[in-house]
Amino acid sequence: MIFKRIHIIFFILFVSLSQVYAGKTIRILISKPADKIELTGEFSLYSDSKMIQQLKDITIPVSFSENMITLFKSASYPSVFLKKTGEGYFKIGDYKYDGELKIISRDKKMYLVNYLDVEEYIQGVLPNEISPKWHIEVIKAQTVAARTFAYFYIEKNKGEIYDLTDNTYAQVYKGTINEDPVFNEAIVKTAGEVLVFKNELIQSFFHSVCGGHTENAGKVWGKNLPYLKGIPCNYCSTAKYYRWEETFSEEEILQKLKAHGFDLENIRSFSPAIRSGSGRWVKVKISGSKKSVLIPGNKFRLIMGIEKIRSTKFTVRRNKNGKGFVFSGKGWGHGVGLCQWGAKKMAEKGYKYYRILRYYYRGTELLKMNSSNKRSVNSERSAVKKHKF
Ligand SMILES: [Zn+2]
Repeated sequence: MIFKRIHIIFFILFVSLSQVYAGKTIRILISKPADKIELTGEFSLYSDSKMIQQLKDITIPVSFSENMITLFKSASYPSVFLKKTGEGYFKIGDYKYDGELKIISRDKKMYLVNYLDVEEYIQGVLPNEISPKWHIEVIKAQTVAARTFAYFYIEKNKGEIYDLTDNTYAQVYKGTINEDPVFNEAIVKTAGEVLVFKNELIQSFFHSVCGGHTENAGKVWGKNLPYLKGIPCNYCSTAKYYRWEETFSEEEILQKLKAHGFDLENIRSFSPAIRSGSGRWVKVKISGSKKSVLIPGNKFRLIMGIEKIRSTKFTVRRNKNGKGFVFSGKGWGHGVGLCQWGAKKMAEKGYKYYRILRYYYRGTELLKMNSSNKRSVNSERSAVKKHKF
């Protein structure tokens, strides 16, 4: 009976996963516009699966009009694919890229999409998301979170022309640059490892500093996820932005609000119309002399500048001169999922990366995807799930 049950579990695990995960190539949208592509090494140029020409160490001028991509100011195509045929890379702007490049015309726009292996992509993500000087266990935790994030969107965006953008809307990716040996070590030691909840890949959100308590995903994006619940974090209190303060003049605030369609006169007060359990302002109420406005906390951050209002966990008081407002806050980022500065402290205290991940992503398991993209429970590490925090 026990054997039968195990057999069924393994059958479900492998059959469902092998169906879900078809490939390890990720497609990243290069968001900066480009008017040229510099090739180093040998490439083949394809259009509609047909090889057009071989190219070597050359700069290709690129332009776009009327749904056609024009290369070398002469030949035009609806889409082209640059495939490496040996060692080499391509360069767009200041960034060098491994893998291949597809240039696609869609809805009167040109899309530059970098096709590459997920593990190579993570090499390009890590330097933008974490310092190589941090403890190896927190770098490994970040690596697994970044890989899980990538696989989640490979699956979610299957029908789209790209999986993820290269900017802060997803994970920052500036091509494959200066591969740091520490990052390579973290990638190799966690090769293929991803986080799942009930056998499904999780949305492994992370942020810089939670300010003492992480946030429920539902309070930020409106949809609750069981593994993204707000939890206390006693590990990030030494982070630079655990506490922050910013002062704005009333005029500056009114101008910023007006630019986003909120027309107010004379601000009387700020108050949290809805406050989450962790103290974040889910909705900000701003009362003026004639009317009040309600703005979602995240939108308020965007209006005021996310580099200034670093989180929605803040209080507001009038400036001493009475002419402006002082925002005193805690944490940096949306507060959902892994707190990077908290994870750093946990690693320094001796926690292994899988325990750090399990702390911030409750109820999840670490699984390893094998070369054919099936996954299996990592028995040594999954035993950690019994650990109670
Ligand atoms: Zn924290």
